[in-house]
Amino acid sequence: MDEDVHRITKKGLAGDTGYLRAVLSFLWNSGVPVAKYTAYALVYQYSMNILLDTAQDCSRCGGRCCREGHPVPLYPFDVDELRRNLGDDVEKKLIKVGNGYALPRPCPFQSGWRCSIHSFKPYACLCYPFATEDEQIDNMKRYNGEGLPVLSIPSDCPAAKRVYETVTSIARELKKKLLRDPAPTELLDELIRRFSSHK
Ligand code: SF4
Ligand code: SF4
Repeated sequence: MDEDVHRITKKGLAGDTGYLRAVLSFLWNSGVPVAKYTAYALVYQYSMNILLDTAQDCSRCGGRCCREGHPVPLYPFDVDELRRNLGDDVEKKLIKVGNGYALPRPCPFQSGWRCSIHSFKPYACLCYPFATEDEQIDNMKRYNGEGLPVLSIPSDCPAAKRVYETVTSIARELKKKLLRDPAPTELLDELIRRFSSHK
């Protein structure tokens, strides 16, 4: 995906369903298995970010994903958004990588287990774990483009496990009704219908 598609996907994963639907249709209509996998993965990720309440899991876990691991890569549009909200001094908190930046871990914006910049957190943070390529690449390669894919769940992320089980169970119910696997937009609509007022 080029940078514009990532920029639009970021808006979708941050809660703009218009942008999310546009990306899902674009991926789905390509017919390519990797793109179809990504479309379903984005629906799971949107559910984790926007629809389902994972606060208890993340609180118990203590915010591991913001503390441990490699630096978090930032797109230029992430850095622009950080500068707009926090001023140019924000660069002092970032790591310079080539011509760009990354967020160190432990992340300087973590406050307890929570994210202190939740409303403008970087794209990579909005993608974890279902739309994170490193997490999904092996399952993505195995997917043949038929039906609901089996997504990878990090073993140390109870929030992802809960989201995965909930969304998959709803997808199976929908399959019984439709007599086929729901397309990503159909699954998204059903999830929004059930959960949009819950978080
Ligand atoms: S998303 Fe997963 S790894 Fe990150 S804080 Fe929540 S439970 Fe922990
Ligand atoms: S910006 Fe927020 S979500 Fe991203 S790593 Fe830092 S604390 Fe975590």
